Amino acid sequence: MVGRMAVVSDTGRRRRRNEDAFVCAPPLFAVADGMGGAQAGEVASGLAAAVLEEGAGDERGEERVASLIQEANRRVFQRSNEDAATSGMGTTMTVALVDSSSGTIAFGHVGDSRAYRVRDGQLEQLTDDHSLVGELVRSGKLSPEEAETHPQRSVITRALGTEPDVDVDTFTVEARPDDLYLLCSDGLTDMISADEIFAVLDGSDDLELAARALIEAANEGGGEDNITVVLFQIGHQGEVEQTAQIPVAVEPVEDDEDTLSGLDPVPVVDTAVIPAAVVEEHLQRVDAESPDSEQGRPKRRRRILPLLALVLLILLIAVLVELALWGL
Ligand code: MG
Repeated sequence: MVGRMAVVSDTGRRRRRNEDAFVCAPPLFAVADGMGGAQAGEVASGLAAAVLEEGAGDERGEERVASLIQEANRRVFQRSNEDAATSGMGTTMTVALVDSSSGTIAFGHVGDSRAYRVRDGQLEQLTDDHSLVGELVRSGKLSPEEAETHPQRSVITRALGTEPDVDVDTFTVEARPDDLYLLCSDGLTDMISADEIFAVLDGSDDLELAARALIEAANEGGGEDNITVVLFQIGHQGEVEQTAQIPVAVEPVEDDEDTLSGLDPVPVVDTAVIPAAVVEEHLQRVDAESPDSEQGRPKRRRRILPLLALVLLILLIAVLVELALWGL
């Protein structure tokens, strides 16, 4: 049922290492975008991808996708608790499982790696980002255009491996011949727009070339993060599968990860996790104009980059208060 497919993962132009991972094991496809200090991000995304590749289980569809992601979550969480060097690591995960018997594709996702589909000459984003700006856009406090350039756009509200359990979004779509699906990390979508993605994918005959072109465009747009692109197309019966995996080597020009120490006056914001409950709490605080309320504090402290996220929260409150004032 899966016809052509292609995968490219690239370090980008600003990072020293590639902390993204992918799975291209039809009928299963996935991207994972790891985060954490030192090499922990690579450990998290690599572990999560390995769990998917083992992939045993009797369930089908969304159930299977959700249980694979839960298992990946447990394994990353367990490792981060056992190994101090990886403490607090996490990863996003977006999974697609094609079921040829039912002609459907089950998706599951956590974080801000996205799934898109091109069908009938249109690009559609299938996933909702579990991110700070995603929440702000959905609650009407930020426009999609503002979100594209928002300094906190890398802050995610859900991740694998940071808590013993994780909320997984799952959904199923009908698969039609010629549908083209894209799974990608935010290193693509932060650097180029949906229109640019569509311009590359629309009518593309060669998925390998299309995947390379997306990576190139993201690098030309700045290449500030690791970029991973998984493309697969639903074929017609009897079509032969083709796979292309092209590691694109790009020399890093600068490493921004070290700026997280706070020494840089304008630190580049790396991926950080703030639980949705905390975001919600702050939205409510702004709504109620009672920023000092002590009620509704989250029981769990987030585990990724505590100091940075604290600074981000303070910035967020300032931005929200400003937005609220403008709205008056
Ligand atoms: Mg990323």
